[in-house]
Amino acid sequence: MTHRITMCSQKGGVGKTTVSLNLALAMAERGRKVLLVDLDPQGGIGHALARGDTELVGLADLLMEQISPEEAVLPTRVPNLSLLPRGRLDPVDACEYELAVGARGVLSSSLSRVDGPFDVVVIDTPSGLGLVTRAALAASDFALMPFQAEPLALRSVSQALRVIDRVRLTENPRLELLGILPTMVDRNNDPSHDVMLEMWTGFEGVLDTAIPRADVFSKASAMGLPVGFLPGRISPEARRFEMLAAELDTHMLMLKPEMETTHEQPQRALL
Ligand code: ADP
Ligand code: MG
Repeated sequence: MTHRITMCSQKGGVGKTTVSLNLALAMAERGRKVLLVDLDPQGGIGHALARGDTELVGLADLLMEQISPEEAVLPTRVPNLSLLPRGRLDPVDACEYELAVGARGVLSSSLSRVDGPFDVVVIDTPSGLGLVTRAALAASDFALMPFQAEPLALRSVSQALRVIDRVRLTENPRLELLGILPTMVDRNNDPSHDVMLEMWTGFEGVLDTAIPRADVFSKASAMGLPVGFLPGRISPEARRFEMLAAELDTHMLMLKPEMETTHEQPQRALL
């Protein structure tokens, strides 16, 4: 059974694309079959992985019936990880694309044409809680909310939670908050600590795993790679995503126990 996770954040630049890419990789490495979907009209993930190749076909082409579902999904070199790129989109058509994706039921049925073979679909969205993000939430089982650990972020978290509640009430009763994920947490910065304290005491659903602020992320984005792919020693930040994938797996199993069935463990002996 396929479960979809949508990134949801009111603010831009909080690390949605970074989290989507690195989390999708970490989940694939845990053995789940993962499809990473780029819903951002600016196409951050296709750009990251394809180094500026705007000719990748994907969702936009599928929506316009210009390609088959098989042609839209791009396998990667990582076993278990495939990509549904944004597709070919002239910037002047961005508005039509948003309207097409935002039309009721369209995104869900397009995704259903491609995501059947996958266990988990990670959907990267544009910033803000506009049409595209709402449509993704309406088509998803889970919302994951990255938030940047800085004082102004607290208000944006409440706003995003209200949108999730609204979508659950009006369009998609299956939708659950998978977690609020602190990102860019600065160990050497007191306001960042204060915000974390306020988050942990004031909101339900804040995850135990937090993503620290670290230079490796910009270095990795500049090379179009997940952090775990940088040459040299594996950074502790890459390990953070392994922890995040494990924590989210546990939450998903608790919220949707039917996920368990596809991953039965063989009996093992210790000695
Ligand atoms: P969004 O998709 O929410 O707009 P991005 O993932 O594109 O955000 O991140 C915005 C910028 O911040 C990128 O340059 C990225 O490399 C950088 N970044 C993301 N996460 C971190 C982090 N934990 N520490 C430092 N820089 C980060
Ligand atoms: Mg992005």
